Amino acid sequence: MAEAMKYHSVFACPHCGLSFHETTSGVQCPNSHSFDRAREGYLNLLVAGRISAGTVSGDTPDSLAARRRFLSTGAYHPIAQAVADTIGDVDGAVLDIGCGEGSYLSHMRSPDQYGLDIAKRGVQMASKLLPDAQFVVGTAFRLPVLNESCDAVFSIFAPHSLEEFQRVLAPCGQWVTATPGAHHLHQMRPKRDENILERERRRDEPPAHATNAQRLQFDLDLTEESAQDLFSMTPLVWQTAADAAPVTHVSVDVWIASGFKS
Ligand SMILES: [Zn+2]
Repeated sequence: MAEAMKYHSVFACPHCGLSFHETTSGVQCPNSHSFDRAREGYLNLLVAGRISAGTVSGDTPDSLAARRRFLSTGAYHPIAQAVADTIGDVDGAVLDIGCGEGSYLSHMRSPDQYGLDIAKRGVQMASKLLPDAQFVVGTAFRLPVLNESCDAVFSIFAPHSLEEFQRVLAPCGQWVTATPGAHHLHQMRPKRDENILERERRRDEPPAHATNAQRLQFDLDLTEESAQDLFSMTPLVWQTAADAAPVTHVSVDVWIASGFKS
C-alpha cells in the first residue's frame, strides 16, 4: 500500500491554524477543513467573509501582466538583489508575502520557497513561473501560515503586517521589506496631492521597527513600453490623477529594511 503523502509546507488551515496533510484532491487539516489544489498546483486559502467589502482584492490581471513584462526587463533587479542579499543563503523556508506574479521570489537563494498573494491571477502566474515553489491565495494580515515556520519572510512593495512577520518567523528568523522612499518614481506622480506630499515627508526616514535599513537609489531610462508597464504597476490613485503620466526617465528610491524575530 502506498504511504500517505506527507505535506511539507509552512501553510496552515486558515480556519484553525493547524497543519495540513495531503489528500487525493488537495489538503486537509485535523478538523476536516479541506482545500482543493488548483490545476496550476496552488491552494486557495482565502476564507470568504474575512475580507471586508471595501477591500480591493489585489492587482488586476492587466497590472500583473504589466508587472511581469516590466520585471522581465531587469530594471528592478537591484531591488530583488538587495532583498536576496539581505536574506542570504537560507536552507529553511523563505516566504514572499504579496508575491504577485512571482518574479521577486525567483531571485531568492533558498531551495524551500513559498509565496502568498491575495490576487488569484498573480498566484496562477507565479505557480507556472516557479513550479518547485508552493503558492497560496491568502491575506497578508492573517497569514495562513504555521507559527514559527519560516526562516525568512519578505515583502516587496506589498501590504504586510509586522505582527504576522513575528508570529510566523522561526527563532532567529529574519524579515525584509522593500518600501518606497520619498523620491520614488516622483516623475510619474501626481504633483499637487497634499496627502502624497505628507507621506513623502514621512518616508524620508527608514521604516519603524527595522534593525537595519539601506536606501537604494538609481535612475532608469525606459522605453515607452516599459514606462507604460511601470505606470500600470503603480497605485491606481496615481494612474487616475490628471497630472500623473508614464515618463521614460524615472528615479527609483527604495528602503530595504530588515529585522529579526524578537
Ligand atoms: Zn482547520
